[in-house]
Amino acid sequence: MRRIFQRDRHGEPSSVPDDLWQRCPRCRQLNYVKELERQLKVCPKCGHHLRLRARERLTMLLDAGTFVEEHEAIRSADPLGFVSAGQRYQDRLAESRAETDLPEAAICGRGTLEDRPVRLAVCDFAFLGASMGSAVGEKITRCAERSAADKRPLLLVSASGGARMHEGIYSLMQMAKTVAAVQRLGAAGVPYLSLLTDPTTGGVTASFAALGDVILAEPGALIGFAGPRVIEQITKQKLPAGAQSAEFLLQHGMIDRVVPRAELRPLLGRLLRLYAAGRRAALGPPADCRQEALAIRSNGARLP
Ligand SMILES: [Zn+2]
Repeated sequence: MRRIFQRDRHGEPSSVPDDLWQRCPRCRQLNYVKELERQLKVCPKCGHHLRLRARERLTMLLDAGTFVEEHEAIRSADPLGFVSAGQRYQDRLAESRAETDLPEAAICGRGTLEDRPVRLAVCDFAFLGASMGSAVGEKITRCAERSAADKRPLLLVSASGGARMHEGIYSLMQMAKTVAAVQRLGAAGVPYLSLLTDPTTGGVTASFAALGDVILAEPGALIGFAGPRVIEQITKQKLPAGAQSAEFLLQHGMIDRVVPRAELRPLLGRLLRLYAAGRRAALGPPADCRQEALAIRSNGARLP
């Protein structure tokens, strides 16, 4: 009899058509792709939140057909003429653009979410690990600046492997630049919502991602600065289990809420409505709005 499925090294079928079935990276069960998409790419068997591409995230969050891309022409330069493993950075960038059909590791623009105007930037881990090169930093910065000008609330959806080593100091400078931009946004009284997705690490965690007025994360997302092995080598201490998970960060007051993917859009819509109500009451939101916003955002200290 002809074998339809080969067995991989785990003894599980491996030659499954990619477009029909997808294996959950956590429970190793197969899911019918159409069903997985209906579940917003959350495994129906174990609840694992699979990574989303930036355009999938935009589709999931925004009202259909409302997205208008901004700053799409910004590209990283190669100021250092960097070569890594025999490959020029410029060539690596071209390869990533072709593979991902994205100009850079973040896509940004404006749209509406549950009929509320919002500006957002979404990182795509498939593009060089969503490392924060000068183009990503510049896009985030311009989003924040434009929002400060037109008062449209900002939502930044982070995922990142950290700095982009190919750009050296130019990559590291993006931390200071994005932090200054979201600080000016705060001074202008415009809300900034930060959503951390799997994985958010390095310079992104250590800059704009951790500075939202409300900081949300998806269940099970890896969130940290350095990897656990590096931390253990430096501190000579073993990290507690799950120390870099969204749930651990919530327990320790670093983020405001862990939100299952299906609940994200309604919650963000509610936050945007609450902040809009707050803005309308120029000298502070009505008491019930303020209390509800504070209940959602258990940390932080600022309301617009
Ligand atoms: Zn699963």
